[in-house]
Amino acid sequence: MDLGLRDRVALVTAASKGLGRASADALAAEGAKVVICARGAEALEEAAEGIRAAGGEVSAVPLDVTRPDAPAQLVRTAVDTYGRLDVVVGNAGGPPPGRALEVTDEVLEAALQANLLTSIRLVREAVPHLREQRWGRICLITSVTVRQPEPVLAASNTARTGLWAWAKTAADDLFDDGITVNLACPGTHDTDRVRQLGGRPARLGDPADFGKVVAFMCSEPARFISGVALGVDGARVAGLL
Ligand code: NAP
Repeated sequence: MDLGLRDRVALVTAASKGLGRASADALAAEGAKVVICARGAEALEEAAEGIRAAGGEVSAVPLDVTRPDAPAQLVRTAVDTYGRLDVVVGNAGGPPPGRALEVTDEVLEAALQANLLTSIRLVREAVPHLREQRWGRICLITSVTVRQPEPVLAASNTARTGLWAWAKTAADDLFDDGITVNLACPGTHDTDRVRQLGGRPARLGDPADFGKVVAFMCSEPARFISGVALGVDGARVAGLL
């Protein structure tokens, strides 16, 4: 199947490791030029080298994506470097664990910054470019907790369900401009984040598979899929950790 991504330009945030990196790898493997970011320069360069070694084109920007000015900077990098922007995969690190009545204002505010506002800002910055060409794909990496809250991840549950509500609304507003907006909602995958959280996940997904699902959601033939929160979770009904 031709995903129609050759020479498209994709921005993938928080992409030096884990699910973001796997998404960038999959998009680059389909022929998209990718702009990636992460805070740690060393792992970011390693990820970029991996894409280049596989024959892909990539620009790596060492940057904290939760900074309010970061989305504008990243969109500008894509447009200045490659002349256009077609695909946005929004991702950021996940909040620390904590139950609903334990979570502090500081933790909630950080989660809302990273896992709600950052994605909204990214979409806002990208949309003028996507609208102009009447083609765009936006895929926001969130969590299966959008559908079933995880008791020990209250801050994450709160920010991600907010993003789902916003994205569903935006999807309707943008569809007639040729722009789709979807959420990719991972269950437990074999990444640093899951290893750090601990627990004993019953099922572990392969990040590389997840990245390919994201690439499909950003593809040409996925043009009629919008406003969807797609669980990539191995049929999990409870107990992320
Ligand atoms: P991961 O393996 O820890 O990788 C996180 C990546 O994001 C790294 O490249 C990291 O690089 C980058 N990053 C983190 N904070 C950033 C920031 N502020 N600015 C720029 N880059 C940043 O995490 P993951 O497992 O792939 O998870 C990705 C997202 O999916 C998280 O929000 C996580 O909560 C969510 N999720 C994951 C799973 C799972 O099973 N893995 C399940 C449900 C939800 P630097 O640290 O160098 O910046």
